[in-house]
Amino acid sequence: MKIDLEAEKKEILKRYRKLLRLAKKSRDDLDKKQIRKAFNVALEAHKEMRRKSGEPYIYHPIAVAQIVAEEMGLGTVSIVSALLHDTVEDTEITLDDIENMFGSKVCVIIDGLTKMSGVIDHSDPNYSIQAENFRKMMLSLSEDIRVILVKLADRLHNMRTMEFMPRNKQLKISYETLFIYAPLAHRLGLNSIKTELENLAFKYTETELFNEITDKLKENQRRLTRYINKFSLPIINTLTERGYDFEVDGRHKSPYSISQKMKNKNVPFEEVYDIFALRIILKSTPETEKGDCWNTYSIVTDMYTPRPDRLRDWVSTPKANGYEALHTTVMGPEGRWVEVQIRTQRMHDIAERGLAAHWKYKAKGSDSDNNKVDEWINKIRNLLDSPHNQAIDFIDDVKLNLFSDEIFVFTPIGELKTLPAGATALDFAYEIHSRLGDSCIGAKVNHKLVPLNYKIKSGEQLEVLTSKKQKPKLEWLKIVTTAKAKQRIKNGVRRERKLIAIEGKEKYGRILESLPTDNPKLLKELVRHFNVPDTVELFVKIAEKQIEKGAIKNYLDQREKHKKEADERIRKKPIEGITAKSFGKQDVLVLGDAKDKFEYKISPCCNPIPGDEVFGFVTVGDGIKIHKTNCPNAMHLQANFAYRTIKAVWEDKSKNEFLTGIRFTGTDDFGLVSRITNIISQESELKIKSIKFDADHGVFEGKVMLYVQDTEQLTELSKKLKVVKGVHNIKRIHTN
Ligand code: MN
Repeated sequence: MKIDLEAEKKEILKRYRKLLRLAKKSRDDLDKKQIRKAFNVALEAHKEMRRKSGEPYIYHPIAVAQIVAEEMGLGTVSIVSALLHDTVEDTEITLDDIENMFGSKVCVIIDGLTKMSGVIDHSDPNYSIQAENFRKMMLSLSEDIRVILVKLADRLHNMRTMEFMPRNKQLKISYETLFIYAPLAHRLGLNSIKTELENLAFKYTETELFNEITDKLKENQRRLTRYINKFSLPIINTLTERGYDFEVDGRHKSPYSISQKMKNKNVPFEEVYDIFALRIILKSTPETEKGDCWNTYSIVTDMYTPRPDRLRDWVSTPKANGYEALHTTVMGPEGRWVEVQIRTQRMHDIAERGLAAHWKYKAKGSDSDNNKVDEWINKIRNLLDSPHNQAIDFIDDVKLNLFSDEIFVFTPIGELKTLPAGATALDFAYEIHSRLGDSCIGAKVNHKLVPLNYKIKSGEQLEVLTSKKQKPKLEWLKIVTTAKAKQRIKNGVRRERKLIAIEGKEKYGRILESLPTDNPKLLKELVRHFNVPDTVELFVKIAEKQIEKGAIKNYLDQREKHKKEADERIRKKPIEGITAKSFGKQDVLVLGDAKDKFEYKISPCCNPIPGDEVFGFVTVGDGIKIHKTNCPNAMHLQANFAYRTIKAVWEDKSKNEFLTGIRFTGTDDFGLVSRITNIISQESELKIKSIKFDADHGVFEGKVMLYVQDTEQLTELSKKLKVVKGVHNIKRIHTN
């Protein structure tokens, strides 16, 4: 097909002029020269490029700039950045060029956008790389919030024009949008952009359900309109009588939010009870806006009975993303619930355009100083500053702390604190001070005692109860949600443990002095005997009297006794059936040989497999047992009963399979189990007997028992597993 370049040029200019026109409509302080320059640079840079749809590439940056100007109401720097947003990544233009031509502000934004391009793919098993990208994203966002605004516009346009993408890309982009961009838009108060992003992603990820809902909405369109009119007419009449200047906007909820309701309540479309929402937007003044909203509320609820539990007052306390409105759900005609949203024009602008509108009203001096978005960006900076040993924790923390809804609670002196929904009394204590958290034993909510894990609700007043005897505990990590509390608990526990261990070590020293032992390995043996992870924990237990002198003495006595008994028994008792001598000249035992003269057993203590260096040991009453030469028991056996040991070698190419195992630790990673089993059973073609994964706070321990023919196979496997991201510390184990 021949492309009409002249016509295309005209169309490009037409689109550019439309952008300028719309931009001027929402901002009167634009620097048109800069915008023109950016347009020309982008046009030149992308001139050979086309989009998947075949259209000239420049349509995309123009459209992104238009979203930035029209739907977000942003100014020159953002429009320029939007026009240039793909140049550094996709064309010859460098960041230096941008800085020289457009200055440092634009440069910072373009830099942030370019760095962000890897982004988050929730389905990608390599979660740690994603976490790093996510961190970068948050970092550039905290440098200049416009980075994320332009990125959101970019994403929105890409989602709007995604039909030409291959299916897998559509899915990937949609999941990413639901995972990160829609919550971001929500958090920044860009409600209409958030809703559109969700709906588009919904359309691509769950096409069937999306179609079902949109079809049903279409089918019922006339009925729905009639209903909304019937519902709103009396409200309109009364408001007009009372002299209000207002607009109403009746609508059904978005297909995405209807689908969420269907899923949450597990009901079909027909049973979603509140698909209607009526918006009342009042023209008001800053002085009277609260009163106007509440008067309107009372007019509506005089007419229709409200559900008492569904009143949401974001007029007195705006949402953390700056959203202000009154929401109520009332019983409309025909017994249907209708949500009514009441807000002023100012509140409406903020709800639709987010922080850009915020700034606009702030500049005009009609908004309070506490800019919620600034607060939010500060929180991001704090999260970035706090140490995170696990990249995955970071994403979770940010998602939980920054994107979830917030609740408001009060201290006993009436101070307002904001916490993420789901926060507990313990979160609250740590929010106030780490000392308060460390010694928290519970709280009083409205004079009632509640435990540490009590989930607080908005509006409650909490008094933290403490005890000097209380100490921070690792289990507490399970009952807190805020990043702050988690970090403070970890610090507290570490501090406590170290202090206690020092005490315990001194005590251990004193105990040893009074015991008849000079075993240099005793400490290691005790760690094993008492089944503790390390010496620090052993000392802690000694300090806390969970392990006392008696127990240590007992161990020493038992050890001595066992050793003596074993030696004694073997010395006294004749060996049944076989003695070393009966092997005669055949002084080497060939293992795996079908013509074996002698039965032997593989010793379960070290579980040797072909390839291991081994020896046979003639036991009392249990035939010959095969040990590894470096088996911990072997040293003892070889040293004391050399006459009962037999040389042993493996027969080559044994057809036998031997049970062995590997243990590894690592970072708990998305999809890791399946990758590991895949390597074992598919790539290495080994038979798995059992597999066990334990994950604890992002660290996992895996244990796989499997059948191999020889050590070579096992070494091969270890090599393969070692390069798997997230796996560390592969060890062979002997028993399951
Ligand atoms: Mn782009």
